[in-house]
Amino acid sequence: MNGLQPYELQQERAHTYMADRKAPGALEVMKTPDYEAMVIGAHPDDDDIGVGGTSALWAKQGKKIVWVVMTDGAEGSEVPSLIDTDLMLAREQEQRMACEVLGVQAVEFLRFSDGHLTNSEAARKAIVRLIRQYRPRVVFTHPRTAGRGPAALPGSRAVPVLLRTG
Ligand SMILES: [Zn+2]
Repeated sequence: MNGLQPYELQQERAHTYMADRKAPGALEVMKTPDYEAMVIGAHPDDDDIGVGGTSALWAKQGKKIVWVVMTDGAEGSEVPSLIDTDLMLAREQEQRMACEVLGVQAVEFLRFSDGHLTNSEAARKAIVRLIRQYRPRVVFTHPRTAGRGPAALPGSRAVPVLLRTG
């Protein structure tokens, strides 16, 4: 056995990471969310690539969307002369411009160190703070088992756990 409890095992088998509203400690469905969706990605551009179309469509329908970028994206270049801070600010600016084009109302940059993001208490607290602030009806994030870089994984592990436990 791999040590998973029956409920977690059931979730693994179901290949679904949607919040289970019957799970122990699950919250009530939010009747009046402030935001329709929160999209949580590891890097600037992950939210666009993953959920850009849905975000644009929902924004066009008048729904409020917030994107969250977990890391500073400072590892996203192969140009050695590029200073990390300059790259971070350039990518954040690009991300803001993408939000403007798609109609995404808010974007939050958590600036955890790119390549070193872990499923830490600090990362989980940052996500909880934003979920409480924006009160989204649904949360999108990276698939937990997708062949993504390691930075994607902490967020994708933390978010379903947060949704399950509230
Ligand atoms: Zn990425």
